Amino acid sequence: MSRYIILFGPPGAGKGTQTKIISEQLSLPGVSTGEIFRSQMEQRTPLGQQARSYLEDGELVPDDVTIGMVRETLAQEAYSAGVILDGFPRTLDQAEALGEIAESYDADLRVVFIKVPERELVERLSGRILCRKCGRVYHKKFNPPDDPQACEKGGTCELYQRDDDRVEIVTNRIRVYNEQTMPLLAYFRDRGDLSVVDGTQEIECVTADLLAVLEGVPG
Ligand code: AMP
Repeated sequence: MSRYIILFGPPGAGKGTQTKIISEQLSLPGVSTGEIFRSQMEQRTPLGQQARSYLEDGELVPDDVTIGMVRETLAQEAYSAGVILDGFPRTLDQAEALGEIAESYDADLRVVFIKVPERELVERLSGRILCRKCGRVYHKKFNPPDDPQACEKGGTCELYQRDDDRVEIVTNRIRVYNEQTMPLLAYFRDRGDLSVVDGTQEIECVTADLLAVLEGVPG
């Protein structure tokens, strides 16, 4: 049976950071829908052009586009043992589609909510920097890169700030999260798939809690 692990939480909760870490520890590939959209935008593919205005405004890309993209991705051989999903699902329709996809691959679905209070999110997001090559996520104050930082893809990390991490857009992304994504918590809780970890801790402690929850080790 394959494993589908969903890291769920508001923008800035640390889903991307933790996906990168636990993906190595559990030997499961990570998939970030936001990262796929950004890379498609950079390559100016039709999908990238379709997604662009939504990302720029901090709105959600329509469900049919997003679900189609995830369905195609998860059909690849690379995900036959499972996946860690970062940023998907974000709507009820996406959650239902994922349930069906998981069932069709006989995958066990687990959801972990990384809980961070809203008041912390703006500071986390507006100070965030990423490497264009390896995708690792840092924070100017809370998690600065070593200098010079060796990139996982060789050479030095190419650090940049995401356009949608500007305060005006961040505010909208948090609003969109509260309105469209937050209701999924109750959905997953009702299905009995949900665990919660405290995302305000040090990165290593969040990882330890995630692994404890996922591997059934007492925390
Ligand atoms: P993220 O990197 O997860 O913060 O996502 C960045 C942006 O990509 C979001 O603000 C949305 O515009 C888009 N996006 C990522 N994942 C999804 C999704 N599951 N559904 C719709 N839009 C998404």
